[in-house]
Order: sequence, then C-alpha cells, then structure tokens
Amino acid sequence: MPKMVRRAGSDALTRRAGHESAADRSGSSRDHHIGALFEAVLTRGPLSRRDAARITGLSAASVTKLVRPMIEHGYLVENTREAGVPGRPQIPLQVDAARHYAIGIKLMDGEIVGVVADLHGEVQSSHRMRYPDTSPTGVADAIEAMTATLLERSPVERERLLGIGIGLGGHINGAAGVVVESPFMDWHNVPLQDVIAQRMQLPVVIENDVNTLALAEQWFGAGSAFNSFALVTIGAGVGCALVLDGKLWRGVSGAAGEFGHMIVDSNGPVCHCGKRGCLEAVVSDSAIAAAMSHSAGRKISKVSQVVAEAHAGDEDAQRAFTQAGVALGRAIAALLNLLNPPLLILSGEGIAASDLFIDALHAELKHDSFSSTAADCRVIVRPLPDEVWARGAAATMLRHGVMHSLSRLTDQVSA
Ligand SMILES: [Zn+2]
Repeated sequence: MPKMVRRAGSDALTRRAGHESAADRSGSSRDHHIGALFEAVLTRGPLSRRDAARITGLSAASVTKLVRPMIEHGYLVENTREAGVPGRPQIPLQVDAARHYAIGIKLMDGEIVGVVADLHGEVQSSHRMRYPDTSPTGVADAIEAMTATLLERSPVERERLLGIGIGLGGHINGAAGVVVESPFMDWHNVPLQDVIAQRMQLPVVIENDVNTLALAEQWFGAGSAFNSFALVTIGAGVGCALVLDGKLWRGVSGAAGEFGHMIVDSNGPVCHCGKRGCLEAVVSDSAIAAAMSHSAGRKISKVSQVVAEAHAGDEDAQRAFTQAGVALGRAIAALLNLLNPPLLILSGEGIAASDLFIDALHAELKHDSFSSTAADCRVIVRPLPDEVWARGAAATMLRHGVMHSLSRLTDQVSA
C-alpha cells in the first residue's frame, strides 16, 4: 500500500517542518473562545452568562457576543425555567441536545459496539455485533451494517447526523486519518478514515480508543469538572490518555500516552513490542496469568482463573496481583510526578479485580511519588463498559463537527 505509507509519512514530515495542521490553522483566538464557551456550557451547564465568563476567563461583553450566534443557530438554548430573580434575569444557557447526533463505534478484534449519541452524550440506541473479516473492507462492511441497525432503532434526521467516530486500539494518527499500527488488527498505515468515509458517504473521524474514552469522560463523565486529568486503562493491554489544560494531548503523531510501554523492570518479561519489562508485560491480563503459572509451576492461561484462585486464598495468585499492583503504582507515580494532575481515572476490564491489587498500588504510589503529587491527585476506579467507549467515539465526532461549525459562526461575530 505505497500510497498509504506516503500519506502518513508526508504528514509526519510536514509536522516536523513546523507547519501547522489543518486543526491548528483554524484555531484563531475567536474560534478558540467560542469553542471554550461551548465546552463550558456543555460540561458545566445550565450556566448563566456571568458564570460562563468566570469559567472561561472571557469578558461579559465577549460572552454576550459569542452566545448570540450560538443561540440563533440552535447550539445553545436559554433555559427560562431556571431563570433567576425577576428584574435581574440571569437566564441559564444550555446546549441543545438534539442539535446534533453522531454515531460512535468501538472497534475490537472481531467485535464492534456502536451507539447513536446526542450532544449531551445521551445514548439513543446501541448495538453489539461480531464480524468475521478484520480486513479494512471487512470492517467497512461491519460498520455499514452497524450504522443501518443503529439508525433503524433510533431515526435521526440526516442533516443532524454529524458523522461517525471510530475508536480503536493502537497508534492512530487521527489528524491524518490513518491507523499507523494496530497490533490486534495487524494493520499498518491503513487510511481507515477515507475507507469508511467513502463507503458511508458521511464525515468520519478516527482516534485511539483510550483517547475517545477520555473525551467521553471530559465532556460527559468524571473529568467534566477538571481542566486536566489522566486516564489509565488496564486489561488485555495498558492504555493511557491525557487531558491537559482542557485539551487531549495526542503528541506529534498521535502516539502520546503509550504508558504501557514504560519500562518498569529491566529484568522483566519480554513485551510484544520487543522490549523487556514494559508495564504492559507485567500487569496485563496475560502477564498476570503468566506470573502465576511461573510461581505455581502449572499452566494457567486465563486471568479469570487467577482471580478465582486469589479470592479463594491461593498465595501464588494473590502475589501475582500484588506484584502487578506494585508495578502499576510505580508507573502511575512517575506519571503523577511528570504531570501533577488533580485526577487520575483508572478503568478498563482489569479493574474488575481491583480489590486484589489496589492496596499495593496505593502503597507504592505513596512511596514513589515526589512531594505532594500523590496527595494532590484523586485516584478513582471507574468501570466504563464498551458502550461508554463507543459514546466517546461519538463524542469525538461531535466535538470535531461542532467545533468546525462553531468556527464558521465566528465570522458573524464582530471582533
Ligand atoms: Zn512494550
């Protein structure tokens, strides 16, 4: 696929040469302000203009100017039922949930979960299906069938449907629309965004799946009250997404957050990435099963068996989880030392067994962190099912589409 390789490569070169991406170019200060205002009302609303000004740091006059076209174009509505004292009306603003919808897809190896979500992140319909063919064409077939089912169950006016957001594991260059590396799909430099957009004749965005989950948490979940937070997921692998000063941090090519490949034990097991002692090679489901197999001297292939035996009091099984908790605590301490975030959300299917490792994690975290970085950070363990990940993919599409539309509205705002 030479064309695909060239595309990803030229994108990286352009960025290295210091040119702005399309997203950067559109980022005038007014675009930035209207986007920030919209996000403030979305995540904290209903919100008075005065509170919106306080949260965004914009002047009252700027808020009034920017709100007007957003109301005219149906993005914001005035919630008159929650108006304040007569004579001093502070009519709260809120986002009109029905202004836009998006389809969100969590793409897994052989299985996809899809949702239709509105602008409040409310899921209108959801569906889960298996698919046999994990080639890009096979995935396009599956997404086409999924979209048809979702829209059948929850009819949405075509003009209100912004498009399809797709989240999947691996190194995803969302700005270029390319899956750079997806180990579980065995894809390299696949232009998935174009493949699906051509098939569906709808706008499409693609993003690393942990990043989509972070966007869902930022807009609709535990992160909505925080300007910065880290999200770490554990299970089959280890994922991480970073929201810093209100923005998802993707890095120069979308590879930021490869926390799972932080080396925590240079004598540890070999990781699938080829290096030795990566966090993922120590704390993933298969690593925990392998650690117990080694210490117990018998073959254990599934982590669920380790969980069951640990709960039944088996010391080898309990030790396998304690060791994973220590490694995770050590790595999270490094993350907190580096970023000093106020919130860390721990999720992923691996947290179902968090009772077996959370104490070891906290003890190591306290021990390894610098000064007050551990005390400054609230660590919450949050189960987020696949539908929430898919909702995050929808949120990614909603954000992309809405920010684009809002930037066009700023033409109507006098400077
Ligand atoms: Zn690795």
